[in-house]
Amino acid sequence: MRVFVDDDSCRGHGVCAALCPSVFTITDGGYAEAATSEIPANLEASVNEAIAGCPERAIHNA
Ligand code: SF4
Repeated sequence: MRVFVDDDSCRGHGVCAALCPSVFTITDGGYAEAATSEIPANLEASVNEAIAGCPERAIHNA
């Protein structure tokens, strides 16, 4: 599983970084950035919470 943040949709609420700080960080520009590497299995549940919890539906997985 890999995830990415749609820059056009992200509004910087930070829900993702709060739910899964190992994967999502808020950049100096105020928007979220996702780790580019394969998500470890033990983090998939919290990544899925972040996907579901993003108010802008800006997080996508592949
Ligand atoms: S929760 Fe969604 S809108 Fe908010 S910072 Fe994360 S990706 Fe962006």
